[in-house]
Amino acid sequence: MRCSCTRSNKVRYYRAEDVVEAYGDMRAMEMNGQIPCEDCGKATCADARLDLPSAMERSRITVRRLVEIKVVKRPVWRDE
Ligand SMILES: [Zn+2]
Repeated sequence: MRCSCTRSNKVRYYRAEDVVEAYGDMRAMEMNGQIPCEDCGKATCADARLDLPSAMERSRITVRRLVEIKVVKRPVWRDE
């Protein structure tokens, strides 16, 4: 999956199965704007699409692989 950010101009490649594991079983079309850019943080990739690179492209691109999914615990408070 090719994912490009309009803000930082970074293009990253992810494996579809990693994206599904990280974000759930969404179709590629629904991924638009769903993957947060690793540089901008909150900003989302404006263009995410399934891309089958040619053999030559595959030798040039670096694919980001999913290492682990961290679950962040965040305390929620209320006044009493
Ligand atoms: Zn970005």
